[in-house]
Amino acid sequence: MSERQTFWTVECEVDEPDLMVCIACLGEVFKRKVPMPDCPACHGVSTYEAFTLDAIRDWGTEQLIEKAVRANAEVEQPVPSAPAPGLELPAE
Ligand SMILES: [Zn+2]
Repeated sequence: MSERQTFWTVECEVDEPDLMVCIACLGEVFKRKVPMPDCPACHGVSTYEAFTLDAIRDWGTEQLIEKAVRANAEVEQPVPSAPAPGLELPAE
């Protein structure tokens, strides 16, 4: 699958839950963003809710927890300052 997934960015406060989980399929989790136009796994619309990693560890499947940990780590990486060629940035 080479289809490119697009996302809405979700603004989260520092101490707020910032892992967006699809509560319809409980199979997708993204940090501070939600896929658009719908969930890539179950195609549910507006099914994403914010949770903390600790909450996901409480009730998530092993797969979901693994994804959540990975998503959480992704954003901690330093972001390259130059956008990749061809990357579309939203107009300000
Ligand atoms: Zn889903």
